[in-house]
Amino acid sequence: MKKIEKLYEGKAKVLYTTEDENLLIQYFKDEATAFDGKKKGIIENKGILNNSISSHLFRRLEAQGIKTHFVDMPGEREMLVKKLRIIPIEVVVRNVVAGSLAKRMGLEEGTPLKETIIEFYYKSDPLGDPMINAYHIKAFGLATLDELKEMETSALKVNRFLTEFFDSVGITLVDFKLEYGVHKGEILLGDEITPDGCRLWDKQTKEKLDKDRFRRDLGQVSEAYELVLKKIMDQPKGKRA
Ligand code: ADP
Ligand code: UDP
Repeated sequence: MKKIEKLYEGKAKVLYTTEDENLLIQYFKDEATAFDGKKKGIIENKGILNNSISSHLFRRLEAQGIKTHFVDMPGEREMLVKKLRIIPIEVVVRNVVAGSLAKRMGLEEGTPLKETIIEFYYKSDPLGDPMINAYHIKAFGLATLDELKEMETSALKVNRFLTEFFDSVGITLVDFKLEYGVHKGEILLGDEITPDGCRLWDKQTKEKLDKDRFRRDLGQVSEAYELVLKKIMDQPKGKRA
């Protein structure tokens, strides 16, 4: 399947149409942004690493019966996906206090949560992705209550699987962001699952293996992404989550 026409260029990926009107190619770039696009940079080979990480995780989620947009990985930076009407909500799932939650609640990063927290943010760059709740989602027609329930159920399933999966390769899944969309009337998990949108900490050393290395100028950014890929690919067969 070849790329035909650029449909959209975002901060980290480009979407292309294909010969099949139901399918798109997501092209993963090396560009990285943080703080609502105010910080910009390049993480060498990020596009290649993120495409591999995300494709691997989507395959594993599909095997668990979780519906995703993933179809194939035809190239090192290319993911073939089902075309979605993206629901403009970022679904954030948290297992450990970090980032904006630590700030908002005045808690130390690394505090484990007794229960998983799901948060919703309105996907809008000009507004800086404000936090919203189910009332906003319903009142502003961002999604129906049924769609919201479906996204929540899926996000919790994704969290259960990924937490165990990452744990089995020595990584703590601290938090992550998911996006959903509609394809032929079905809600599918879209976008990507990569160290750009997840907080991944080495279980033993607590070393950050994600975009916080870029956000906080910690160095060794692509090395950390590479390590994540290596760890998830090296997972021993007997230990499959
Ligand atoms: P951003 O738009 O935030 O800068 P990206 O650079 O990652 O982000 O661009 C990818 C865009 O493609 C995102 O806006 C995302 O919502 C959208 N997207 C992800 N998967 C699909 C899909 N299967 N169909 C249509 N759009 C998608
Ligand atoms: N996240 C993301 N895109 C966003 C905002 C957050 O992928 O626009 C991810 C982020 O990488 C982290 C989780 O969602 O894994 C929670 O992020 P948080 O709310 O703590 O915000 P941040 O500290 O990134 O500003």
